Amino acid sequence: MNKTYRFGLLGYPLQGSRSPDLHKAALQAAGLAGEYRLYPVEPGDIKRLEELLAHLRNGNLDGLSVTIPHKQAVLPLLDSLSETAHAIRAINTIYARDSRLIGENTDAPGFIMDLDKQGVSGRTCLVLGAGGAARAVVSRLKTNDWEVTVAARRTSQAEALVSEFDLSGACRLDSIPQANFDLIVNTTPLGMIPNEQSCPWEGDFPTGAFVYDLVYKPPETLLMQRARAAGLRTCNGLGMLLEQAALAFEMWTGYPANKDAMKRALA
Ligand code: NAP
Repeated sequence: MNKTYRFGLLGYPLQGSRSPDLHKAALQAAGLAGEYRLYPVEPGDIKRLEELLAHLRNGNLDGLSVTIPHKQAVLPLLDSLSETAHAIRAINTIYARDSRLIGENTDAPGFIMDLDKQGVSGRTCLVLGAGGAARAVVSRLKTNDWEVTVAARRTSQAEALVSEFDLSGACRLDSIPQANFDLIVNTTPLGMIPNEQSCPWEGDFPTGAFVYDLVYKPPETLLMQRARAAGLRTCNGLGMLLEQAALAFEMWTGYPANKDAMKRALA
């Protein structure tokens, strides 16, 4: 009998997630049967995380994606991490091998693959936020020779990233220095539904910067609207979402992910 794959997403909140569309399209294009379900798990609900991970360990699930706010919280519940995930200390993908749970980070390669596709060039970058996604983003920017400054509402969190990844500087989100950044990356959930009216940026933008918002719901965030009104190029996080999902799908199934089909599912 043909296998039916069972995947899912752990996070909170999950309304508006496009991950099911992406993975269903990839399954269909590969001629595989399966499903991708949303598992909302409130922040701090370790018991529920453990329950769902047990399903992965015993083979009732074939793969789990992890999103805000669990990318770091889930680490102590895993048996091992890939080299990438170990360096970043945050994961977004889990699979089981011989009943052992392995954490992987496909956000990092997914982000840099999409940044390349956007044709972004430059040297100086400001990353807004210092959580799980920020760790993936700064690790790849650093290995691609960007000078990275991190701004977070808790300076201590930004400073920790600076010392861990040997970055250029840290500051508070509400007192960003006037500087000519070539790239601004938002990794906070500000602007994401249900908080569409929030924005991580006040005031003028650096001339000529590219604004990359990891948020993709709504497709154009307030940050992107403001940047576009100031004449800047922008993109949302859908390209990164697609790339990281394609990598996860290939890891879970061993089949190539049809990115054209996945892209059509997002349209
Ligand atoms: P996370 O680990 O919880 O980190 C979020 C970061 O944003 C932390 O630094 C947090 O600071 C900060 N933050 C949260 N609420 C804030 C607020 N109201 N004001 C200022 N700062 C705030 O979450 P994550 O997993 O990194 O995800 C962050 C965002 O990126 C989410 O919107 C997620 O959907 C998006 N994302 C998109 C993709 C994609 O493929 N497009 C991939 C990954 C993530 P505190 O620690 O002080 O709360």
